[in-house]
Amino acid sequence: MKPNKHLLIHNTSQLLTLSGGAQRGEGLGSLGLIEGGMVVIEGERILAVGSNEKSFAKQFPQASTFDAQGHVVMPGFVDPHTHLVWAGDRAAEFEMRLQGKTYLEILQSGGGILSTVQATRNASVADLVSQTRGRAWRAFCHGTTTAEVKTGYGLTLDSEIKQLQTILSLGSEGPFELVPTFLGAHAIPPEYQQNTNAYVDLICSQMLPYLINWWREHAPDRPLPFVDVFCERGAFDLAQSRKILKKAKILGFPLKIHADEFDNLGGAALAAELGAASADHLVKTSIPDIKALAKSNTVAVSLPGTPFGLGEEDYSPAKEILKHNGLLALATDTNPGTSWCESIQFIIALACRKMGLTPAQAIAATTINAAAAIQCDTQIGSIEPGKQADLLILETADYRHLGYRFGTNLVSYIIKQGRIYPVKQPAPETSFMTGVS
Ligand SMILES: [Zn+2]
Repeated sequence: MKPNKHLLIHNTSQLLTLSGGAQRGEGLGSLGLIEGGMVVIEGERILAVGSNEKSFAKQFPQASTFDAQGHVVMPGFVDPHTHLVWAGDRAAEFEMRLQGKTYLEILQSGGGILSTVQATRNASVADLVSQTRGRAWRAFCHGTTTAEVKTGYGLTLDSEIKQLQTILSLGSEGPFELVPTFLGAHAIPPEYQQNTNAYVDLICSQMLPYLINWWREHAPDRPLPFVDVFCERGAFDLAQSRKILKKAKILGFPLKIHADEFDNLGGAALAAELGAASADHLVKTSIPDIKALAKSNTVAVSLPGTPFGLGEEDYSPAKEILKHNGLLALATDTNPGTSWCESIQFIIALACRKMGLTPAQAIAATTINAAAAIQCDTQIGSIEPGKQADLLILETADYRHLGYRFGTNLVSYIIKQGRIYPVKQPAPETSFMTGVS
């Protein structure tokens, strides 16, 4: 007998297709909801979407079926900003912060980003893969089917390449799909504290040209990684950020920027000017810069886990971004210092409360718009024929439970490139007081 080549997902409460491309301004939150919708998957791709059970049964008589048991089916989440690869942790620093220690005191006692840089420099690729794998798995189990991952904890050519190797190696294990970003300009390395321009020159004249050749040799079939810069006081100023990003653009790299997390240096406007894929953080962004972004195709990526992680009160001005017709996405910013958050569902809950988004807007910002922020929106981020079959089956019948509930994983099954991964035991019908002794 021929194996079934089609998989039919049926008995959904709500099928969220998110069809029609990235969603701008007040248009954010168009879920493309089909009550009782069905999806047919062929191999790794979506073949058909609809709601007519009889016609689907006629068209695909041999299809194997997956019963969604009256629950929501939606696209896999896309996390467009993470620093998933690092060694060590900064739990002690978290405690010091809670005890009222200043940033300088933490730095002097060996904390801060440079402690992660030291630990990451000392780790092998195998160490980094094994330390990162658990985080990747937990993010996947919470419904993130594709994540962007940055380097930036090495700050030397060799150690930055080591992080890229880690990303490629972990990505090749599957099923979690990783999109790499080179963030050599994440912080000023200790060796260059007194001469930051020399480090900028090193990135422009040595690291980026080396990276082009390295990439052609080690990942010839994949698009070039993004190049990102941390444009912030204490990191790279606007002129240095411009220099790095312009050089990267000339070499053909797609661009990203960290901007306006603590200060507005003009990084968001620079991203729009250079045609970057995204500008990220955007807490202190001015209205003129929001307008500049909105006129471009640069996606504004908000990271509400970061102010939450730092216990700060200022979040991205999402309503202004939408009012001015900008493209808004959300991400976890998973990192050991400010936002060790592996659940993009928690980010949705935060965005609803702290940025005033509705669940529908937050869902669009973590699927189709998040895919646009990593230039993958023709392949992922929505449920449409021809796209990659990356879907979630939730354990709720109402999509608004995303955002409404928090701290609970609402994903029960993940379909990644057509393969089904159960990620959670269903709640038992009777007592769950069993255990192993
Ligand atoms: Zn970041």
